[in-house]
Amino acid sequence: MTYSRDYYEVLGLERSCSVAEIKKAYRQLAVKYHPDKNPGDREAEERFKEASEAYAVLSDPEKKARYDQFGHQGVEGQAFNGFDPSSFGDFADILGDLFGFGMGDIFGRRRGARSGPRRGSDLRYTMKLSLEEAARGVEKMIRIPRMESCEVCGGTGSAEGTAPETCSTCRGGGQVMYRQGFLSVARTCPGCGGTGKVNPSPCSECRGRGRVEKEAQLKVRIPAGVDSGMQLRLSGEGEPGSQGAPRGDLYVVLHVRDHELFHRDGAHLHFELPISVFQAILGDIIKVQGILGDEIEVKIPSGSQPGDVIRLRGHGMPGMEGRRGGDLLAHLDIRIPKKLSAEQRRAVEAAAALIGSEAHHEGFFEKVKRALGND
Ligand SMILES: [Zn+2]
Ligand SMILES: [Zn+2]
Repeated sequence: MTYSRDYYEVLGLERSCSVAEIKKAYRQLAVKYHPDKNPGDREAEERFKEASEAYAVLSDPEKKARYDQFGHQGVEGQAFNGFDPSSFGDFADILGDLFGFGMGDIFGRRRGARSGPRRGSDLRYTMKLSLEEAARGVEKMIRIPRMESCEVCGGTGSAEGTAPETCSTCRGGGQVMYRQGFLSVARTCPGCGGTGKVNPSPCSECRGRGRVEKEAQLKVRIPAGVDSGMQLRLSGEGEPGSQGAPRGDLYVVLHVRDHELFHRDGAHLHFELPISVFQAILGDIIKVQGILGDEIEVKIPSGSQPGDVIRLRGHGMPGMEGRRGGDLLAHLDIRIPKKLSAEQRRAVEAAAALIGSEAHHEGFFEKVKRALGND
């Protein structure tokens, strides 16, 4: 499981860098760490993806602004959503003019037919969490159906003692040419599906596919403070690559459910705190339960007004990656008794006589009069 490093740090740039510097820094890293130049080098592949992700964000003025203001949280879940090459703008162009192809290829997307080792596909899994779990951090077992190399045939797809043969339709090339008007167009070979090989006696376990779907059980540790849209990357937990190429990654996308009591705003939590009109008048100290189940003392100042907000510092969501946590904000909901006994009524009347039953501040009618200029 990894968290993204600071994007500027990834590209080796200062925060004040220019667009041209961002482009240049990315280009250098892309050339150095490109998977085609470092076959089978997991480290280089990670560095390449990291740099690409940083570039995808910093080269987009809107995403860059969000990142500068909110950090990873500001762009997570959308900056690099599912490696969609179409969202990269001139990003694909840079790679295209460097290597002559688009982003999809690098991230395991199929580029028509191609034989040879290919990295496994990335998988996505959406995990739902309660707000309590997000606040506390949690370890969860997840079950994901994914392809595994067939154990019976060792992934070859051929029955024991046999081997795949070269496809006679395409003679092993994986593509056939057909004419369309004046053009000659290459198409994936229908005889072998583009692999260039056919299986005269397929393995009965995997029916010749070389892989079978299995349910994997994985333990995922969710750190405290996560929010909806964040994703965790489990390196090498995606689908297996072909012919010994590395596995893809598994992305666990988090979805934090709404809470009955607490309303989340970033790291802050808001809630309605019902108090009696007498607590508002006289002030009080009451105890409430925070999101972590801890008891928190709330001092209601005397003379509290409807809608007043009391800030309980540090009792919101915990901060991630060493950042400061949020606050808990109690919105006072002042309740007025609906029924009074005769004795209570007399007591309130006595208090009203002493204090005065008019509103202390400029009343509604005075405001109206002033607004109409009848003062
Ligand atoms: Zn098999
Ligand atoms: Zn073929």
